[in-house]
Amino acid sequence: MARSSILGYPRIGEKREWKQTLEAYWSGKADEETFRDRMKEIRLARLRKLQASGIDLIPVGDFSEYDHVLDTAAMFGLVPKRFDYQGGEVPLSIYFGIARGTKDAAASEMTKWFNTNYHYIVPELDGASPTLTENRPLRAYLEAKESLGIEGKPVLLGPLTFLRLSKGYNPAETDVWLDKLLPLYEQVLRELEQAGAAWVQVDEPALVKTADPQDRDRLRRIYGRFAEAAPRLNVMLQTYFESADDYEAIIGLPVRGIGLDFAHGRDANLAALRLHGFPSDKVLGAGVVDGRGIWRASLAEGCKLLKELARFVPSDRLFVQSSCSLLHVPVTVKGEDGLPEALKQALSFADEKLEEIALLARAADLGTDAIEAEMRASEAALRALNEHETRNRKDVQAAVTAIASQEGRRGRTFAERQPLQQAKWQLPLLPTTTIGSFPQTADVRKARQLWRKGEWSKERYDGYVREQIDKWVGLQEEIGLDVLVHGEFERTDMVEFFGEKLAGFAFTRGGWVQSYGSRCVKPPIIYGDVAFEGAMTVEETTYAQSRTSRPVKGMLTGPVTIMNWSFVREDIAREQIAYQLAYALRQEVEALEAAGIGLIQVDEPAVREGLPLKREAQADYLTWAVKAFRLTTCSVRDTTQIHTHMCYCEFHDMLGSIEAMDADVISIETSRSHGELIHHFESQSYPLGIGLGVYDIHSPRVPGTGEMTAMIGRALQALDPALFWINPDCGLKTRGEEETIAALRNMVEAARAMRLSV
Ligand code: GLN
Ligand code: ZN
Repeated sequence: MARSSILGYPRIGEKREWKQTLEAYWSGKADEETFRDRMKEIRLARLRKLQASGIDLIPVGDFSEYDHVLDTAAMFGLVPKRFDYQGGEVPLSIYFGIARGTKDAAASEMTKWFNTNYHYIVPELDGASPTLTENRPLRAYLEAKESLGIEGKPVLLGPLTFLRLSKGYNPAETDVWLDKLLPLYEQVLRELEQAGAAWVQVDEPALVKTADPQDRDRLRRIYGRFAEAAPRLNVMLQTYFESADDYEAIIGLPVRGIGLDFAHGRDANLAALRLHGFPSDKVLGAGVVDGRGIWRASLAEGCKLLKELARFVPSDRLFVQSSCSLLHVPVTVKGEDGLPEALKQALSFADEKLEEIALLARAADLGTDAIEAEMRASEAALRALNEHETRNRKDVQAAVTAIASQEGRRGRTFAERQPLQQAKWQLPLLPTTTIGSFPQTADVRKARQLWRKGEWSKERYDGYVREQIDKWVGLQEEIGLDVLVHGEFERTDMVEFFGEKLAGFAFTRGGWVQSYGSRCVKPPIIYGDVAFEGAMTVEETTYAQSRTSRPVKGMLTGPVTIMNWSFVREDIAREQIAYQLAYALRQEVEALEAAGIGLIQVDEPAVREGLPLKREAQADYLTWAVKAFRLTTCSVRDTTQIHTHMCYCEFHDMLGSIEAMDADVISIETSRSHGELIHHFESQSYPLGIGLGVYDIHSPRVPGTGEMTAMIGRALQALDPALFWINPDCGLKTRGEEETIAALRNMVEAARAMRLSV
């Protein structure tokens, strides 16, 4: 019999009770005992739901009180030295200290989990000697068994992936580190075997990235040792997010099951199966239901795929499963009554996916007829959405095809534009500006709530926003900034704000997913053709401009960022969605220009996030992502200055693409990367305008002028002073007013000082 399985389930709960529990504890409103009790309730409620769903293999240990990578590091006692850790089980204060920082010790770095929007805490190895502080998977396994009689499937992060995600060691010493970690893993597995666990899921998503030839030996060593340590425990070696890169090596490993993603790596995984077959002693974990997409599965397509897989493996050696953990989708569609019916019917979040998986497992055994009615229902729902007018806007499609057939080039090259812009804007050397947002104080958020609840009229709210703009235009003038911004007080979020004003978007009520720690995001859904319906930012921007004689920079979110931070339709290519967004945003750029705004920033902080995991697919993505940006910005006059902004610091390998965006000025976050980026500019010149953030906005600390002049001096050794801008690392939305004003004063002073010395 085929069995149904999932690789993980959301932690946050239907009403985000997980988030509330964490935040109550952090703020001191709940003590540790209450916190632990509450977490246990949440954990068990979630398990009960999975039990009721009829899924055969219920994951345990995928739940976390913050992040599963941090859990793995804590389990091995890998605590950075700056924390006062005495060994043994890592106490909550240190666990959360690593994640969030304490007053004495900085938090560990946080970064994206593969190509998702989930962030994990980067383990710091730094010469530590790992020990097993507690067997977390065992504890989870026993809890499920004793409390609910569930024979769970413990989930572990595999050693190779764990090392790939860690820092603080020389990758040439990977084998040394494996020697330290493997005995600990062996003990975990042995104890699980003794406790009676039948299956364990060992996650190795690193195996979908372009493979390192040395990994073949490493994998043989790791999984060979696991097989010896716990011979009766069935290991499901699980890959996801793409096809397994070295399929041939993986199927030769002494594990009981191989898990493959047939949602995101379908063609390549199928090709590998056809070429190499599937070993007759193993179970295939077939990820047939997309674990990170929000769309209802086509059961007919699913059945077709199962039929193909049946050529390689009989159903009694088949797990029908989600392609990855369901962590990346919201909990349930139930209660989403505000959505258009055709959209709601075509959605499937975590709970709905459980049903789809169970149905497909049934079909794998009994044939397609067994799920005939459900199959028809799913086809009808998907067809209704595809035929919906929002997906068939001939006007938009024709216009987008027309502009996308162009290169998206500006009338003149940067070298030609730059003197024209300089003559027009007359900015000083090392001009100063900010990235867009000013503090969103409790007051600002309150005003928005009052308006949304209907307690404030639109006029009253608009008046309030104008007061904020007045205040900050005044402050910016007084501080002495050269290029001003309006401050983004009217925006909740840089994607939601635009999504609400464009056609083709929908917003759920409760479609939250974990982004990092307790922070959840509610990504918009792009379900139709995206279309411009009227100016979105012109009013606030021109109001700000009317209050000052200095130039005000308009502020938009770019097409690729809007796309990467949304759930998107799958009936057309991502490239096409990006071009539709580009066409819509270009109309906003043109509207701003027509209204007299001559500097326009189009933020693209999320370009890097969309980068495919396989190296060979990256160039193509970057080409169209860059083109989408250019289509957005290319139609303006030569004297109109296009700015862009990117946040994270790993841009060194895509400087060529950044240059190809042809923005007159780019601002990039740098201060947390300790000058790494500047270092890259020493070997590769950058010929357009550029501002490297001169202070970290993630901390309330006010940096001194000297610190910033040093930073600028260092940058100017590599970059042309005539093209260099002075700005903070990112938007100031999360900062307090006082510290913001103080830091900006120091920044302007630093710029003035540096002007005298270059
Ligand atoms: N303009 C945005 C702001 O200042 C940019 C935010 C971002 O880069 N994430 O808030
Ligand atoms: Zn930023």
